[in-house]
Amino acid sequence: MRGEVKVVGKVLAALIALSAAVPAFGQSSPSSDANLENNLTMAMAWKQTAAEYRALYHQGFNLARLRVELALAQKQDGSLPLAIISDVDETLLLANDYWGYLIEQGRDFFDDAIWDRWVAENRAVASPGALEFLEFCVANGVEIFYVTNRDQGDSTVDLALDNLNAVGFPSVDRAHLRVLRETSNKEQVQQQIREDHEVVVLLGDNLNDFARRYYSTDLEQRLSLMEEDRERYGRDYILFPNPTDGHWIRAIFGDSEPPPSDANRSTLKQAATRSAWTP
Ligand SMILES: [Mg+2]
Repeated sequence: MRGEVKVVGKVLAALIALSAAVPAFGQSSPSSDANLENNLTMAMAWKQTAAEYRALYHQGFNLARLRVELALAQKQDGSLPLAIISDVDETLLLANDYWGYLIEQGRDFFDDAIWDRWVAENRAVASPGALEFLEFCVANGVEIFYVTNRDQGDSTVDLALDNLNAVGFPSVDRAHLRVLRETSNKEQVQQQIREDHEVVVLLGDNLNDFARRYYSTDLEQRLSLMEEDRERYGRDYILFPNPTDGHWIRAIFGDSEPPPSDANRSTLKQAATRSAWTP
């Protein structure tokens, strides 16, 4: 017993000494290093390291494969050929080192100019399970359509083809890549594909990848529209996680690529604390 009391006494003494040496002990204090305050840090630590993040991709592609297997089993003679439609970035391709670079540069929102430079470097990697799922589709006669809103000017298509080819995805050609530079509305191209295909699932990291009706800057409306469609998730829509960018950012800021100002950091903090306990 004496030994334990001694240990407790030593621990208490150490804590008292520590709290005296570090005035902020037990309290929050602003960091002197701006990078440590970067809004992207928690999201990117998760993307870069969490097995849970990567498992969500496997979960999504496993679900998508189940939907394709079901469609194959139910396919009637003479029916339209089966197809899947997928978004590209943060769905099939991951850009973790782009985001890591942004944090190192002290930037904490998506940066278009850096993105364009990064895309040209051909550094994207396949998301976990993406290649296997796409190969399963092709092996079973299911067509793949890559639909993206990327815009790197006249080079957009070539850069996207390079990125998709670099990771070894199948069916990477101009017939299967649809680039929407002028609009983020994917419904028109979905409709075109549906004219001669039965589309089994849509895959994306942004609700706008599924339907235009989600293109709302009203945060509450976006939440309620999603709830109206709850039956479609995991069935028609396969959603992948993205805590760094997307239309959810636009719903907060009115801009999906807000400038890295203190006003915007404050707006983000308000979003993070819209529900906060007041003891
Ligand atoms: Mg995306």
